[in-house]
Parts: sequence; structure tokens; C-alpha cells
Amino acid sequence: MASRKLFLLPGDGIGPEAMAEVRKLISWMNDNLSTGFETSEGLVGGAAYDDHGQAISDADMEQAMSADAVLFGAVGGPKWDDVSYDVRPEAGLLRLRKDMELFANLRPAICYPALANSSSLRPEVVEGLDILIIRELTGGVYFGEPKEITDLGNGQKRAVDTQVYDTFEIERITRVAFDLAKTRKGKVTSMEKRNVMVSGVLWNEVVTKVHGEEYADLELEHMLADAGGMQLVRWPKQFDVIVTDNLFGDMLSDVAAMLTGSLGMLPSASLGAPDPITGARKALYEPVHGSAPDIAGTGAANPIAMIASFAMCMRYSFDMIDAADRLEKAISNVLEKGLRTADIMSDGMTKVSTSEMGDAVIAEFEGLSL
Ligand code: NAD
Repeated sequence: MASRKLFLLPGDGIGPEAMAEVRKLISWMNDNLSTGFETSEGLVGGAAYDDHGQAISDADMEQAMSADAVLFGAVGGPKWDDVSYDVRPEAGLLRLRKDMELFANLRPAICYPALANSSSLRPEVVEGLDILIIRELTGGVYFGEPKEITDLGNGQKRAVDTQVYDTFEIERITRVAFDLAKTRKGKVTSMEKRNVMVSGVLWNEVVTKVHGEEYADLELEHMLADAGGMQLVRWPKQFDVIVTDNLFGDMLSDVAAMLTGSLGMLPSASLGAPDPITGARKALYEPVHGSAPDIAGTGAANPIAMIASFAMCMRYSFDMIDAADRLEKAISNVLEKGLRTADIMSDGMTKVSTSEMGDAVIAEFEGLSL
């Protein structure tokens, strides 16, 4: 069996605590299911800065580039608030995204039935929710030029950001959306603002063309991004895959995330282009949350976002669909049994620590796997 090379970057704060639970799971899988994961580990963020004065070293970047997938914990914390801008902890993550050319950000919003009551929406609106938001990550208004503030000399200033997309950028993100929709319910909703933005007109045209030429057997729906935001909180279960640009994706994925409760539950993936020879994509998997310095070292961190990020890694980088399904089911079962870390605790449930939650998910996964 081919080896599966994973590069682990635990980072700072609760990153290493959450990563420890995934490490336990990987070693159980290697011992019992012969999964052949080969792991190596590096430093990123404040941990890397403390060690060698950079947010990620060239040597660790090389390892990230040659791995089949990178698992990333979290970076940052007050200890590094005053380090210079180019070596601040977040610079490590930005370099990984840039050098690996990770243009597609995937954020699932899944509402486990046991947590439906923790959502700010009515349980029937969110229970069983399973949608995937795909955000274009390397283009659009966050990067377009000109990007400047000019002094107009009359006591006024003018700030300009530029929304810019080329055809190829829209084509490749559209393909990611349809390729993933094929493995789900087969429906893609594309969101833009073609009524007021020419970039939205092009976005709409290109998505429609790629759909017609390459994915006509799947369903495509177009929605204006503002209406999409409304529909997300009105009846989110109408969606399967949503594809949108960098700016709208940033906002819509946060809205969708909060439908499901805590930050400690949310995984994500960032994917690059497929290798022309092997078809494999560069990929980085990380929880949505940060390093949570307020609870770091207390054993209170919820490791589910990190564990669910590993489930995404198995699904999208290694085509281990059954194992990914089983791991997600294990998480759901553990919640069903009433185990909760502090962030998702509610009356009548059993409060557990980071490692107790990790152990419970692994035990449940074992039960479903053997
Ligand atoms: P945060 O996500 O770290 O924490 C926000 C709140 O959610 C805190 O109260 C925290 O305790 C709680 N929380 C987060 N993850 C949790 C988990 N797994 N289990 C239980 N509770 C959890 O965001 P923040 O406080 O704004 O930022 C803290 C640091 O993290 C900053 O230095 C920030 O720059 C950095 N950050 C890093 C990333 C990343 O590495 N991708 C993302 C966001 C923030």
C-alpha cells in the first residue's frame, strides 16, 4: 500500500493539545487498520518564532510542500503581540497558503443532532444540517490592485480596494465545487452580486459555462449573495454546496458556521490545484478556531474541530471515504451519549476534558471500525 505522508504543525495555545488527540487516533489506525500514515512534525507560529525567529522555517515549508497533506493546529497569542509584522505567528499560515497555492477553502457546516438545541436558530431549522461552503481564497478584493489610501489634499482621503477575478480563477474554483458536489447531493449554488458588480457578471457567466460543458448532470443554482445570506439563516437545509468569492465567502462561511454552535466544532480544508501527473492536490486541514490563549493548558479545549479536520483530510486527500464517515459518526455518537467539553456543555450532560473527549471519540471509532 502506498504510504500516506502527513506533516503535522500543532502551533500555539490549544493547537498542540488538540493535535495530540489526532496523533493518538492516527497511531491507533496505523496499529489496527494498517493505514500506513507516516507523520512528521514541524513548528509554526509563535512556537517557530521562539525557536528560530521566523513564523515558519524554509525546512518546514519544504516538508509541507512535499507532504500529501498538512494538518495545522492554531497559531498566535499575547506572547507574540509585539513581534514585527513579517514574523508574526499568522505569517506562518499565510506563507503556507501562498506557497502551496491553496485557492479553495472548504468549510462544512454540519449540525450534529445532539447539538441542535445549542444553535441560535430553532432546532428543526438546523438539525441534520450538512452543507459545504467553498470560498475562493487567493483572489478577489483582498488581493486586487490598486489597494491604497490616497490623500486628496482637501482634508479628505480616498480608500480603494479592487475586486478582480480572471476567468481561470473562477473556472478552477467552480470545478472544485462540482467535483465535491458529485460526492454529496449533487447541487451547487453559486453566489455573487451580478446586479451591481461586473466581477459578479463574469463569475456567473463562467460558472454557467463550466457547468454546461463539464457537469451538466449536476444541478446548478445562482443566487445573489445578499439573498444567499438571508436564505442561510431562513432555511439552510435547502443548500448542498455553495461556491462564492473570497469576500462573500468570508462572511457567508462565518454565518453558516454559527448555525451549528461552537467554534470548537468547526473543521476546514484548503486545497490547491490537482497535480497534472498524479491528480493529487496540495492540501492543508485546520480547525476554524484560533489558539484560544484564555483556555490553553487547562484541558478545556474541544478537540472535535481538529479531529473533524482529520476526517476531512481522509476524505479529500486520501479518498478514505468509509473511514471519514465512521469518524464523523463516532463524533456524533459521543455527543449523543452526552459527553461535552466546557464550550458545548449544557444541563444534564457530562463534562469532559480535551483528552477524555479524544479518547471517547477514538473508542467509539474503534467500535465502528473493528
Ligand atoms: P479563538 O478562536 O482562539 O478563541 C475565541 C473564543 O473561542 C475563546 O473564548 C476560546 O476559548 C474559544 N475557543 C476557541 N476554540 C475553542 C476550542 N477548540 N474549544 C473550546 N473553546 C474554544 O479566537 P481569538 O481569541 O480571537 O484569538 C486568539 C489567538 O488566536 C489570536 O492570537 C489570534 O490571532 C489567533 N487566531 C489564530 C487562528 C489560526 O491559527 N487559524 C484563527 C483565529 C485566531
